[in-house]
Amino acid sequence: MTSPSPSFFDTGALVSVLTTQPLGRPLDYKAPEGGCHLGSFVEVPLGPRKVLGVVWGTGQGDYDLSKVRSVIRVLDVAPMREDMQSFLKRAADYTLTPLPAMLRLATRAPGLSNPPSMQKVYRLGDRAPERETKARRKALEALREYGGLAFTLKELSDLAGVTSSVVKGLVKQGAVLEEDTPRDAPYPPLDPDRGSAALTPDQTAAAQALISGVCGARFQATLLRGVTGSGKTEVYLEAVAETLRCKRQALVMLPEIALTAEFIDRVEARFGVRPAEWHSGVTMTERRRIWKMVGQGQCQMVVGARSALFLPFQDLGLIVVDEEHDTSYKQEDGVLYNARDMAVLRGSLCDAQVVLASATPSLESWSNAEAGKYTRLDLDTRFGEAVMPELGAIDMRTERLPASRWISPTLQKAVEARVQAGEQALLFLNRRGYAPVTICRACGHQVGCDHCDARMVEHRFLKRLMCHQCGETKPMPSVCPSCEAEDRLAAVGPGVERLTEETQALFPEARVVTLSSDMFGSARALKAQIAEIAEGGADIIVGTQLVAKGHNFPNLTLVGVIDADLGLQGSDLRAAERTFQLMRQVAGRAGRAEKPGQALLQTFQPEHPVIRAILSGDEEGFWRAEAAERNQAGVPPFGRMAGIILSSTDMQEAFDIGNLLARNDGAIRAAGGQVFGPAPAPIARVRGRHRVRLLVKAPKGAALQPALAKWVAPVKGSAQFRLAVDIDPQSF
Ligand code: ADP
Ligand code: ZN
Repeated sequence: MTSPSPSFFDTGALVSVLTTQPLGRPLDYKAPEGGCHLGSFVEVPLGPRKVLGVVWGTGQGDYDLSKVRSVIRVLDVAPMREDMQSFLKRAADYTLTPLPAMLRLATRAPGLSNPPSMQKVYRLGDRAPERETKARRKALEALREYGGLAFTLKELSDLAGVTSSVVKGLVKQGAVLEEDTPRDAPYPPLDPDRGSAALTPDQTAAAQALISGVCGARFQATLLRGVTGSGKTEVYLEAVAETLRCKRQALVMLPEIALTAEFIDRVEARFGVRPAEWHSGVTMTERRRIWKMVGQGQCQMVVGARSALFLPFQDLGLIVVDEEHDTSYKQEDGVLYNARDMAVLRGSLCDAQVVLASATPSLESWSNAEAGKYTRLDLDTRFGEAVMPELGAIDMRTERLPASRWISPTLQKAVEARVQAGEQALLFLNRRGYAPVTICRACGHQVGCDHCDARMVEHRFLKRLMCHQCGETKPMPSVCPSCEAEDRLAAVGPGVERLTEETQALFPEARVVTLSSDMFGSARALKAQIAEIAEGGADIIVGTQLVAKGHNFPNLTLVGVIDADLGLQGSDLRAAERTFQLMRQVAGRAGRAEKPGQALLQTFQPEHPVIRAILSGDEEGFWRAEAAERNQAGVPPFGRMAGIILSSTDMQEAFDIGNLLARNDGAIRAAGGQVFGPAPAPIARVRGRHRVRLLVKAPKGAALQPALAKWVAPVKGSAQFRLAVDIDPQSF
């Protein structure tokens, strides 16, 4: 055993530095003039280059010391805390990721080692411009969209699509402020006691339970389960308030960037100031500022995507994972991790409260609560007058529908009644684009992606075919790519765009709006559209899962699900859970205010146990049945699983290596596990790479990671071949 590292190293002392370079292990250096701390971010020489690293511990010194080079300089940011070091180590061990790759996630601050020279920044001023031109309006709208944030001249002109002289003109008129402030200004403090709501007795009890642990500096994970509209957000904002009061930091994670704008407004109303916002849509300047201020404790609250978990918080007291069941918390490329699980790990290492909030929890979290590992809090009624919507099925076997029509007469009547009453209806179909399949009527050819094992989806709005795996698009061909017949290509099956067409034809007088992620260039456009709908600017909304999450339309009283069976096909053991969650979420969009709501599910199998569970609303019963089934099969959360994805430009190579691993499975068997496959991965070809998967199943208590590491160690990657380990895969 090595003795613990001192927290400070004097000039010339031997330190070991972990860099972000793929080297295998930390390297030794001498501490620079003035010394350095354990955790200091440093620049070190590596061959002819300078690279970023972190002082990870005491140097090993087991070689010629005269060859050891010196740290070049210590960066002007707070040293990495020990709990963060532990977090990275534990996360690396859990996901079988090399430590340098983990460190890269934690150093995603643009310009960390080379801060750009000081530039002026621009933010929204108080005065309106004397004359508002189109370009000026664009610049101001962009600034308003991002609240009080400051931008460099280039960022702002890029964001708004205007020239820099437009911005300069606005500065002259006082509509935009120009400041010398270094980009690293602290965030203004939030006021925990500004806009608190009077909670109901149920909400108060839940809030109290969360609050009690926040300042006490002890880890606790809580599943906050509450029907949509019950006030979960209101409750966990109370926990945020308490975190602010005891001067600790709070992180709220959301699964979807599209949800942040609405949420940030709500936080501002509650605490008087906008919190920091961290996701891929945030500018480099702002990200750098957040990273630095979070590390210095001068940023109290961050709202962010899963990568926010790797920010260098100084004293993180609360982590909220909202919509904890959402599959987008799983990162599916690069480092494969589930941010919900990593949040619990991070919280346990920094003595934080971790709140997992959902109306439809994952089976994992539900069973962790059953097992007593998580505290469970329930909010069973909607706030105020709102009641849960009434659910019903439309049996499609008995509905009379012409070909290429998807709205049944029963659903049509229901929509009609709502529209006539001046209420809104939502038609839900979880399929982007116009039609999922484009087929040649002459030869039967289906247009596929050139690089993936997937069909091209027609997007009429964009006037192109698109692959939903790799994003590749191409123009709609006029002749069949296979038999060259003219004008024989036909759209098969519905997407939201096609459903919009049908809706408009059935209800020519109604205002129909489509909400799907490809209809909007920016978060701003989406936010504007959502606001318009909320204010009554639409009668019928046709939408994908984008509308299933979060948005609040008070006048929406009917939800029609076009194809409730869509997710139940296929052999995935998680299909039932996903369908249950999605259907309950979508149904929950109806009747969020005073008017009672209704949800109608079109289905060809109304007797299916999952459909029945959705309709009955017996959530506890559903989970029990689902748990029993998974337990029987020995799959998560009742057993351990991992996927090994072998990908290569050469399919045979991937299969050969897969077979070799399957034959030499001693390490896995020694740990009590079993290997299945190789078989084509759920998506067998992506971007020209063939993908083959092995699945490993092991009992719950098995030491799976060390066994996996030992098992795959002999397999080496190459220019064309890659191996990735996926712990707790999403589909199995
Ligand atoms: P959830 O997160 O469970 O879906 P929300 O916290 O968004 O629920 O609450 C649903 C709606 O009810 C929101 O508009 C919210 O402002 C309102 N609301 C909930 N609880 C209260 C309360 N105690 N006082 C005032 N408004 C509330
Ligand atoms: Zn593709």
